[in-house]
Amino acid sequence: MTLSPQTSPVISAIVPAYNEGQGLAIAIKTIAGTLDACESAWEIIVVDDGSHDHTFQQVQLLSALDPRIKGVALSRNFGKEAAMLAGLEQATGQAVIIIDADLQHPPDLIPDMIKQWRLGVQIVHAVKRSRKEDSFGQRTSAYVINYLISNFGGINIKNASDFKLLDREIVDIIVHQLPERERFFRGLTSWLGFSEHYLYFDVASRQGDESKWSFMSLLELAITALTSFTSLPLRIISFLGFATLILGFFVIAETLISLMNGQAVSGFATTIICLLLIGSFIMISLGIIGEYIAKIYEEVKHRPHYLIKTRVGLDTKKPH
Ligand code: UDP
Ligand code: MG
Repeated sequence: MTLSPQTSPVISAIVPAYNEGQGLAIAIKTIAGTLDACESAWEIIVVDDGSHDHTFQQVQLLSALDPRIKGVALSRNFGKEAAMLAGLEQATGQAVIIIDADLQHPPDLIPDMIKQWRLGVQIVHAVKRSRKEDSFGQRTSAYVINYLISNFGGINIKNASDFKLLDREIVDIIVHQLPERERFFRGLTSWLGFSEHYLYFDVASRQGDESKWSFMSLLELAITALTSFTSLPLRIISFLGFATLILGFFVIAETLISLMNGQAVSGFATTIICLLLIGSFIMISLGIIGEYIAKIYEEVKHRPHYLIKTRVGLDTKKPH
């Protein structure tokens, strides 16, 4: 069923894309086909996250053919989290689906997500069942990051992905009531509460070239995730401090006892070891505190999350 482009969309699909020119057209057509089958008015908003290839030209071409396909181009690469936020701010649908541009999030799941939403669920998470296609390194880092956040951040995101359906109410909360600069989308949606439903999918192999995440960007994501959800590392520092203090008392007692027994205090090696150990504890602690201060610094600067360079098919009066 094809609906007229004027109908205000019920479903918005947001597709963050960074250098996805190669496979974008196929991906968007597949997503559009699935949405067509869902019998609701829809729009697809592709957010070009500062790509260096022809991603945005692709969006312009697709939009010329079907005005329900829209796009924004960010002025530079702001990262996927910012790109998703840009999409959320532009979306007008009653339900918003966030889906990757490389078809690794199967569009086949969309009808089920919409069905759950119609039943009253406000957040539908798509959860990865397997990560066969990822390399050993990727799988390990994904596991470590998810483990850290699930265990220390107090929220469960094991195997979570950014592939989600959000009700309008949730989108409005994310856009208007969560002003924090550093976001960790996967965690945020769990943190919100509200009625949730989980659907499972197998990760398909990537359309186009290799993943856009480098090890450093994953590490950064992990640090953002941890620092924005827990202050446990700061508590570990205090704990370390106390542990060293108690150890110190023992060493002092031992030294005094041997002094009173008339033995000269020896142990140059011990001194060096203690110095080095305590020195490294202090350095690491400073580093951890530094991470949090850096986060505070980022937050107080209040810079916009992203800047839009061009748009196609979208109203310019929207914020940002
Ligand atoms: N992406 C983005 N900005 C970035 C990196 C990635 O918008 O800085 C998009 C990318 O185009 C894709 C999605 O985020 O649509 C997921 O990226 P990728 O497939 O590289 O990651 P993975 O599948 O390994 O999570
Ligand atoms: Mg991918």
